[in-house]
Amino acid sequence: MSQQPILISILGDQLSLSLASLRDSDRSKAVVLLAEVWDEATYVRHHQAKIALVFSAMRHFAEDLRADGWTVDYVKLDDPANTGSLRGEVERGLTRHNARGVRVTEPGEWRLQQDFDQWSSVLGCLVEILPDTRFLCSKIQFYTWAAARRELRMEYFYRDMRRQTGLLMDGDKPAGGKWNFDAENRSGPPANLIVPAQPQFPPDAITSEVLVLVSARFGDHFGSLDGFAMPVTRANAEAAFADFLENRLPTFGQYQDAMIAGEDFMFHANISAAMNLGLLDPLAVAQAAEAEYRAGRAPLNAAEGFIRQVIGWREYVRGMYWLDMPGMAQANALNAQRPLPEFYWTGDTDMACLADCVRTTLDNAYAHHIQRLMVLGNFALLAGIAPKQVAEWFLVVYADAYEWVELPNVAGMALHADGGRLASKPYAASGAYINRMSNYCRGCRYDVKQKVGPDACPFNALYWDFLARNEAKLARNMRLANPYATWRRMSDEQRAGYRDSAARFLETIKPAPAGWA
Ligand SMILES: Cc1cc2nc3c(=O)[nH]c(=O)nc-3n(C[C@H](O)[C@H](O)[C@H](O)COP(=O)(O)OP(=O)(O)OC[C@H]3O[C@@H](n4cnc5c(N)ncnc54)[C@H](O)[C@@H]3O)c2cc1C
Ligand code: SF4
Repeated sequence: MSQQPILISILGDQLSLSLASLRDSDRSKAVVLLAEVWDEATYVRHHQAKIALVFSAMRHFAEDLRADGWTVDYVKLDDPANTGSLRGEVERGLTRHNARGVRVTEPGEWRLQQDFDQWSSVLGCLVEILPDTRFLCSKIQFYTWAAARRELRMEYFYRDMRRQTGLLMDGDKPAGGKWNFDAENRSGPPANLIVPAQPQFPPDAITSEVLVLVSARFGDHFGSLDGFAMPVTRANAEAAFADFLENRLPTFGQYQDAMIAGEDFMFHANISAAMNLGLLDPLAVAQAAEAEYRAGRAPLNAAEGFIRQVIGWREYVRGMYWLDMPGMAQANALNAQRPLPEFYWTGDTDMACLADCVRTTLDNAYAHHIQRLMVLGNFALLAGIAPKQVAEWFLVVYADAYEWVELPNVAGMALHADGGRLASKPYAASGAYINRMSNYCRGCRYDVKQKVGPDACPFNALYWDFLARNEAKLARNMRLANPYATWRRMSDEQRAGYRDSAARFLETIKPAPAGWA
């Protein structure tokens, strides 16, 4: 290279050949730096499989880049000179390649954005930070959208995204005459439901080497590496998604909210980890789902339900994250102070629903949306677990967890810690909901039909206790008018029974020892 190159630093969740920092660069005048750093692998004690996934996907992406004509400098975790921090590795890279400056794509997390903002002055060179164009809605577009509204609701944002992308639009009208087919997407699981198996991607040589490294260095983290078979390349991720389109999308809508013990993925796509890493493009994924509908291979309720998650919820929570940070990380509108129960780490609880959701989380670094929201999140909401502790747990345990998507889902959607900015009402539910949507209660030592007492499903008393505890803050919410009316119609004795039962149950919960996360 005749002139000084530019150093393009790429993060572990920026594994897209279309990344802004690559797209605008000349291969002959750039060196791409990818570094596995201790700080990123340990700022929380991530699930072992999550670390393995990211490192393996990074190593495979470096190969893709080389094949695409880029000069790549890859720093492995156990490189003796590795400083352990991103900034440290960029500094070393600048010297090693005598580079004239750094080009990066903006990071997904607030803490890294704060760090990047200092790079120019600390490193003493030009640092160019480009917007992440892998989202359909830019930050500025979201801020503008939000500024024009008194109340922010995903549904209206989603309609704008449909109009913007033309997805499932017939002219200027939504396909099928409705924007949302959610009402058709709430079936509980029938007894004989057959769920197709997940595609498996057994470790190749690169992944096997990473598994040995992760086991040696992070073997005391949550979860296990047994049977690791996640997609780690773009080709793997595309094959996994094609399998979803063919075998699960047609039924995705109907059973979107259903849970079956031991069926860890149900009819969900299981693509969030790959998409958040950059291995799959959200627009392409949504277009492929529409094509299935247009070809008559998937019903509209399924295609629409899936597309809403990808271009609606995913984009909306990212917009909300950047709009409300750093306050979102501190939010605790319901003043929830209880420590996280130990069983979130071990799965050791008699509550069959929670035990199964923690088990799949340990085994797969995955739980599907309803398990996260209506079991794990719902319990934390009802029991009044401190939002920071819950958010940290969710960030640790899922392979798809990055703060931009995890925190708004936890603080906003699951815990109502933002006071209702993201979602109009708390997703609070008693055992009846879990019983309707799953087969968990049949295998549980608690009785979902009993309201109070030592054998009653704990969700039942906790639900009413939650409403009572937060009456001053929530009773004016129109969407909670019915439950509060029911609460007021109860006798003093009934109300005291619920509160007493909840208090007795909460006393039995063992808090997690410090240092788990
Ligand atoms: C408390 C809580 C924490 C969550 N934490 C994360 C997280 O850390 N990372 C993450 O990617 N998702 C998170 N979600 C959203 C959602 O649960 C996962 O995206 C989904 O379970 C991933 O599985 P899937 O790919 O099979 O999704 P599917 O059900 O098949 O949905 C398709 C895609 O839609 C997107 N999507 C669906 N719902 C949401 C949502 N609420 N927010 C953002 N994207 C969504 C995902 O990219 C997902 O891959 C969380 C939800 C809750 C309630
Ligand atoms: S009875 Fe209650 S605790 Fe047991 S599985 Fe059902 S909802 Fe969960």
